[in-house]
Amino acid sequence: MQAMAFSDLPFTDDSISFVHHPVVLAYLQRYAQHHNLLQHIHFNTTVTSVTPRNNKDTEGWIIRTMTQESQSERKEEWEVDAVVVCSGHFFEPYIPREIEGVERFPGQLVHSRDYRTPIPFKDHVCVVVGAGPSGVDVARELSGVVRKLYLCTRERDAGVVKGAVGDRFATAGLVACERVTGSVMRLTPEGLVEFSDGSVTSERVDSVVFCTGYYYHIPFLDPSCDVKFSLPLSEESMDEEDAEVEGECASRCVAPLYAHLIHIRHPSLIFVGLPFKVFLLTQTHALTKITHTHTQILPFPCFEVQARCVVELMKQHPQLFWGRKGEEDEETGLWTRKGLEAAWGDLMEAWKQKGLPQRYFHLLGGNQWEYFKRLEKECGITEPTFNWKVLEEVYNDVSNARIRDQQGYRNLVYHLKAESWKRIE
Ligand SMILES: Cc1cc2nc3c(=O)[nH]c(=O)nc-3n(C[C@H](O)[C@H](O)[C@H](O)COP(=O)(O)OP(=O)(O)OC[C@H]3O[C@@H](n4cnc5c(N)ncnc54)[C@H](O)[C@@H]3O)c2cc1C
Repeated sequence: MQAMAFSDLPFTDDSISFVHHPVVLAYLQRYAQHHNLLQHIHFNTTVTSVTPRNNKDTEGWIIRTMTQESQSERKEEWEVDAVVVCSGHFFEPYIPREIEGVERFPGQLVHSRDYRTPIPFKDHVCVVVGAGPSGVDVARELSGVVRKLYLCTRERDAGVVKGAVGDRFATAGLVACERVTGSVMRLTPEGLVEFSDGSVTSERVDSVVFCTGYYYHIPFLDPSCDVKFSLPLSEESMDEEDAEVEGECASRCVAPLYAHLIHIRHPSLIFVGLPFKVFLLTQTHALTKITHTHTQILPFPCFEVQARCVVELMKQHPQLFWGRKGEEDEETGLWTRKGLEAAWGDLMEAWKQKGLPQRYFHLLGGNQWEYFKRLEKECGITEPTFNWKVLEEVYNDVSNARIRDQQGYRNLVYHLKAESWKRIE
């Protein structure tokens, strides 16, 4: 908690470090009041579309909104010079679509988005699909109440899962590490679940919990905004999950953006909050070859740096955002359309060399610190937003504590100061 605060407003109670979501909600409400932001927020209002403004001189955007009122809906249209999309990416559940037999499966199907407590699963035979942070957390909670638990993941993650949960699941009847993607898994009308190696659950499954992540889903962006939901790469560089979502307005990456932030051809279209977590363990991930101990990026510090950088860029490079069309042709440097286009080309070349699936595009991994510092530098920010060294050390300490004790690490208390930190045992 102490490490996730925005730089200008600490949490009030630093006697605990791992808090429940109502505390975070109260903090965000206090933050909005502190900065007098409520006056700017249009509650109960959905953005239904964003389209480019049809103006030959300058760029800009038309926003259409729908406000829910007590008895009716009010539609409005706004003309704006810039759009910052902060609509989140933990909402639209991803469920592998080619799993056979979903329609006729008699058991319960749930996505982790809708999971709240293990109580409804008491005495169930339960299959948890996916072994990311959600899958492991949900499986750990369920293992205390279910009769039998299967935790499934792709073969390539098998070692990671075993390392993550240790022996704790052994007593819970856990059968781990089956391959589960696409057509390789089948749910039968009799309530059994087939795994990719041909094995089948020994008895009827009461519930399947999909902890398979989320789409980047931004349905209100009109196609004319020129935002793609896949990278401009050949089909060979996609794995089956990438191919599944290709061409849809819902996928696991957003492009073409510089620094996960700014549309390279329409810089006044900005995205805050796209980067996401890293892996669960101190192991080298078989696919990405990335070794990590961390489980999350620090979302609020990430958002703050991104927002601060955008504001700084707008001040320093107004031409990029508000310049008259065509005038920017003579400018040079990174913060020009040509500069961003070239940087994007380099990034795509480097990405091809890595050979990773597209859904890892916004994965910062252990690179989050480098990303934050580099972004600040490139945007001309000389005073760092946070003491990154302190945050990184605390973050690593928490990650290691979590690996040592998956349950108990939440009882640790951290005290952070500007230049130092300490852990109270
Ligand atoms: C299970 C789980 C556990 C997590 N645990 C932690 C944790 O312990 N610590 C941590 O730091 N982070 C945690 N996270 C991550 C954290 O929740 C996110 O990083 C954070 O909420 C992202 O903030 P955001 O503002 O980008 O998106 P969101 O919080 O998703 O907010 C997006 C907002 O945009 C609104 N919106 C969407 N579409 C429209 C539209 N068309 N018109 C108008 N409004 C729209 C939504 O209603 C919502 O209010 C967790 C996430 C999950 C899923």
